[in-house]
Amino acid sequence: MGTVIGIDLGTTFSCVAYVKEGVPTVIPNKGGYKTTPSIVAYTESGKRLVGHVAKRQAITNAEHTVFAAKRLIGRRWGSDVVERIAASVPYKLVAGPNNDVCVELRGRVYAIPEISSQVLQEMKLIAEAHLNENVTQAVITVPAYFNDNQRQATRDAGTIAGMEVLRIINEPTAAALAYGFGKGLNKRAAVYDLGGGTFDISILDIKGEDFKVIATAGDSFLGGEDFDARLVDYLNQRFMSEHGTDLKKDPIALQRLKEAAEKAKCDLSTLAEVEVSLPFIATKGKGEALHMRYVVTRAEFESLVEDLIDKTLKICQKALQVAGVLKASVNDVLLVGGQTRTPRVQFKVKEFFGIEPSKRVHPDEAVALGAAIQGHSMASRKAEVTLLDVTPQSLGIMIAGGYVTTIIEKNTAVPTRRGHIFTTVKDNQTQVKIIILQGEGEKAEENELLGEFILDGLREGPRGSVEIEVIFSIDADGIVSVSARDTKTGLQQAITVTARSGLTDEEIRRMAEENRDYLLETKSGDEFDRLSHGVCEMLDEIEKVRPSVEKALTGDKEFAKDVLTKADTLKARAKKAVESKDLDGVIAVNEPLQRTLNMFRSLTKGGGGKQ
Ligand code: AMP
Repeated sequence: MGTVIGIDLGTTFSCVAYVKEGVPTVIPNKGGYKTTPSIVAYTESGKRLVGHVAKRQAITNAEHTVFAAKRLIGRRWGSDVVERIAASVPYKLVAGPNNDVCVELRGRVYAIPEISSQVLQEMKLIAEAHLNENVTQAVITVPAYFNDNQRQATRDAGTIAGMEVLRIINEPTAAALAYGFGKGLNKRAAVYDLGGGTFDISILDIKGEDFKVIATAGDSFLGGEDFDARLVDYLNQRFMSEHGTDLKKDPIALQRLKEAAEKAKCDLSTLAEVEVSLPFIATKGKGEALHMRYVVTRAEFESLVEDLIDKTLKICQKALQVAGVLKASVNDVLLVGGQTRTPRVQFKVKEFFGIEPSKRVHPDEAVALGAAIQGHSMASRKAEVTLLDVTPQSLGIMIAGGYVTTIIEKNTAVPTRRGHIFTTVKDNQTQVKIIILQGEGEKAEENELLGEFILDGLREGPRGSVEIEVIFSIDADGIVSVSARDTKTGLQQAITVTARSGLTDEEIRRMAEENRDYLLETKSGDEFDRLSHGVCEMLDEIEKVRPSVEKALTGDKEFAKDVLTKADTLKARAKKAVESKDLDGVIAVNEPLQRTLNMFRSLTKGGGGKQ
């Protein structure tokens, strides 16, 4: 059996790991980074870009660059969440054929699992390049609070990426595995996982190599991106009151502002104040250039996000309640997810649990490491770890009046199965329709629709005489399946599934084939050629617009000198890296060069600024 990799498919970044001679190890990408942006873009020529290269061109190709696809995976078209996301992203979302969400890029429609598969494929390639072998099996992680549709869609993404998904495991559970594996612990741990797009809390009992989740709760629409959005709104408001210009109306300016806000947020984790500096962010009147230069203090930032942190703590309280355990019984708190680097988050979690969070897990790497441990354990003959997880949300069916009756309660250990007897209500009734829902709402519409199942060809008989037992199962991946049998004859009953939002087997096969073909075409491509080509294009454009930039800057001589000198130094560095075929140098220069180009473009776009 080949190596089984563990992939943390994150909202903003993804990470891949494997177990090397018994030691869980993160695999760096070619640029040496241990995480890779979960971003996919299509260029004008139809070329697919994934990861860092996609992120770098996001500002200038915003409409065809998909970030945070994880927020959309497994969601239904028309839902509130999707409408909210559609209104806030620069790429175009469209309804898919299965009532799912698709994205239109360069005139082609992609299902969201297809986009996620491209990120997974990149992680697979990173592992293959490092291990020098084909990788065909993976364990992929999902937020604990993901429902069946979201899990199913993530599994489909893995299949489309050309991998057998051995298991889908929950991110906090994976982090706990990374923390406890091989240490012979006897502890109750709480895993507080605040990532780019989702929040999860899981409480686990760890005994040696047995990891048993006793409760989980979360919000699959709460994460670092919301923190960024608060800062974007705040900066934009300040800019509006000063200049009367709404930066949200200009996609390039908005993208620059978003990136600057995220950077400021991250810097505020170590600094007491930061300056957000965005030269030429907008123009006014006859093309007068407007710059943003605001100082944001950590205290200001904290006041903007305090309620978001409080929201996570309420969810922690709920998880403790459901588990029926006291805060005091928790021996260790693990912080996972990049957003837990914000000191205020750490402080409030510490205050809530009354203990200092453990520093033993790496917030960006623990989840992938745990997935690798699970994958390795499944591949080896003797199971090294036992994982017992729970279902995060209740499973129910719709009953008369549009209400829900619960079949499997949330926080039930999985895998699990429960039977439910359906009886015919009419004479010679041959069909029964079952609507399956997930969530805690009393009314059907307050829950996630998982699917409609029709029991066909029932035995004819007087009403009430035909009883069908429907078995609802949730497997170890948290994925739901349904089967049914006639209780009298014992015969298996046919079930037709409709209204599922996922892809069909045929669609998955087709997409997997397309991915394979794409890979064959691009594998021959060389990383250095690819990157240096992009760098040369940027150098050309900078050269071309330089005279207009100079002209635009005539009104601010000192600033002009500073900007142009910095740009020239950068150009020289970039040229040297390309000429000396220095891959690391090309990687290092890419981002600053893109920023300079974006600044130049902002300036010249406005007709050359102050004339
Ligand atoms: P994850 O999904 O775990 O990769 O977390 C990504 C989120 O963590 C993003 O919203 C990042 O902006 C955020 N993040 C990363 N580094 C930091 C940092 N140093 N301080 C605050 N937030 C961070």
